Amino acid sequence: MHASPTLDPAHVAIIGAGASGLMTAISIARSLASQGIDPRSNRILLIDGANKIGIKILVAGGGRCNVTHHVVDEHQYATTKPPIIRSAIKRFSAQDSIDFFEQLGVTLKQEPTGKMFPATDDAHTVLHALLDEVDRLGITILHPWRVERVEHSEDGFIIHSDREHPPIHAERLVLATGGKALPKSGSDGHGYAIAQSLGHTITKDILPALVPLVADPRSNWVRELSGISSRATIHAVSSTGKRLKSFTNDLLCTHFGLSGPGPMDVSRYLSSAKLSDKGAHLQINWIPDASFDQIDSELSTLGKAQLITHLRSLIPERLARSLCEQAGVDPSMPGHSITREQRRSLSHLLTQCAVYIQSDRGFTHAEVTAGGVPIEEINRKDFASRACDDLWLVGEILDVDGRIGGFNFQWAWSTGIIAGNAIAKSISSSVTQGD
Ligand SMILES: Cc1cc2nc3c(=O)[nH]c(=O)nc-3n(C[C@H](O)[C@H](O)[C@H](O)COP(=O)(O)OP(=O)(O)OC[C@H]3O[C@@H](n4cnc5c(N)ncnc54)[C@H](O)[C@@H]3O)c2cc1C
Repeated sequence: MHASPTLDPAHVAIIGAGASGLMTAISIARSLASQGIDPRSNRILLIDGANKIGIKILVAGGGRCNVTHHVVDEHQYATTKPPIIRSAIKRFSAQDSIDFFEQLGVTLKQEPTGKMFPATDDAHTVLHALLDEVDRLGITILHPWRVERVEHSEDGFIIHSDREHPPIHAERLVLATGGKALPKSGSDGHGYAIAQSLGHTITKDILPALVPLVADPRSNWVRELSGISSRATIHAVSSTGKRLKSFTNDLLCTHFGLSGPGPMDVSRYLSSAKLSDKGAHLQINWIPDASFDQIDSELSTLGKAQLITHLRSLIPERLARSLCEQAGVDPSMPGHSITREQRRSLSHLLTQCAVYIQSDRGFTHAEVTAGGVPIEEINRKDFASRACDDLWLVGEILDVDGRIGGFNFQWAWSTGIIAGNAIAKSISSSVTQGD
């Protein structure tokens, strides 16, 4: 959808037409309409630099778009202010998302993991429903229209592009520019510079999150297991072995290192720990819930049974053989021939296996960003900026990131709805005052 900017200042310009920006625009327009104010006045502008709108929605969940999760709470997010998340999720919950999409004609179905996907298993269904609603409500999308800088004065905001477009004047502004993950989608971190120019700060570290991990040469054996997948408990641990964060989920060994939901969930905690502790690494329990003592005692009672036969019942055979090799044990040995030392070494590798990580795979392969505009700089009630009047910030630009499972979209939906309602209130009070 292309359109020329209005000559009158826009009531509100939303920079970024990703999940949070689309939701904010819909929320403003619906809320205005419910107050008897026609939103079809070309004065709600969605501005996006991308050629194609909604790429992240289309690629999400492997092209199926994991819209939300059956149960969402603040514990699924990394943040400095859990109460803000708790309150946002309470005010627009996972059930509200389910109802919202149902109303747009998109039925969501729940998978055994609790993840919610469109029943069509096609992310296009989600994007089309949002864009149709934007269209129905008369919201204008300008794209490709990359915002380079924004000036703020008493009259509002002047939004500049580097192209030949004339600047746009808006009374209110929303930053929904996302973070730095998947920069080819248009979210390249420039939103942070815009936020800073309007008085905000950004966290010292901006790191890729939900990102695959590259093995350090000390753990090259992981690469040799490329193609193996297994459920495991993965701990990010400090150089002294202190457990910092743990996830139990599927893990995939690849030609570069580790991928899959478990390693991706833990990635931001490891990367963040490695900033101040180079020796931070992963510790993997290949048999979730089993302790060293349990496994050690199991192995000590194998008797004549072959070690590999037992291990095969617990983990993939190639993994079992690799761990035996590292423990210096012949996997074809009968249980009773294994020395105590070998058994303990193997039990250790099975339940507390150190894996050293060189780096993550960077923003190109990351699903979200850890870091951003500190949540303390936002008014928790409505996501308005505390640094600049008539400015709101929503979605991933804020320093909040969720684990895999639909939590990041839920954050985008919740913040968009809440900010949108507040913006509509602000517009309606200025309209009734004769704006
Ligand atoms: C591969 C992948 C898979 C994912 N899968 C899931 C999933 O299944 N479930 C889930 O919950 N989350 C998933 N996520 C995360 C989720 O997509 C994001 O958290 C969410 O899209 C963030 O929404 P947002 O609107 O805040 O930002 P974005 O979606 O990043 O949107 C920001 C928009 O702002 C625009 N923009 C940025 N800067 C400018 C500028 N200067 N001028 C104009 N426009 C600008 C961009 O073009 C972009 O369209 C996935 C992410 C990736 C990369």
